[in-house]
Amino acid sequence: MADCLFCQIIKGKVKTDFVYEDKDIVAFKDIHPKVPVHILILPKKHIDKLQDVGDNDKDLLGSILLVAKKIAISQKIDQGYKIVINCGRKGGQEIFHLHFHLLGDWKNKN
Ligand code: AMP
Ligand code: ZN
Repeated sequence: MADCLFCQIIKGKVKTDFVYEDKDIVAFKDIHPKVPVHILILPKKHIDKLQDVGDNDKDLLGSILLVAKKIAISQKIDQGYKIVINCGRKGGQEIFHLHFHLLGDWKNKN
């Protein structure tokens, strides 16, 4: 997807520090954090939104949750966090490359 911002980030064309990367998944800090720890976790494969995943994406979706658990530990929020997926424009999705918001450290939110 040439015009997808997150594909550009994955390909290194938009410089972004990754907090996690493996062959299928990347994670980086949200540019406008809603809470002190706000990480986006996404598949390298372009999928527009959750509604577009198929049965062959089961392993990928499971792997993303396992990565979220690991990042929660590395970001020191494993005592409590939320995972949010906005699906579709009516669900608040702005960037159409599937991503999971990992949100933590609420107590330090103003
Ligand atoms: P959503 O509304 O679920 O599509 O979330 C998109 C998220 O991407 C928002 O929280 C934005 O702040 C975030 N975002 C947009 N551009 C960037 C960027 N260049 N790097 C990191 N996060 C971004
Ligand atoms: Zn993309």
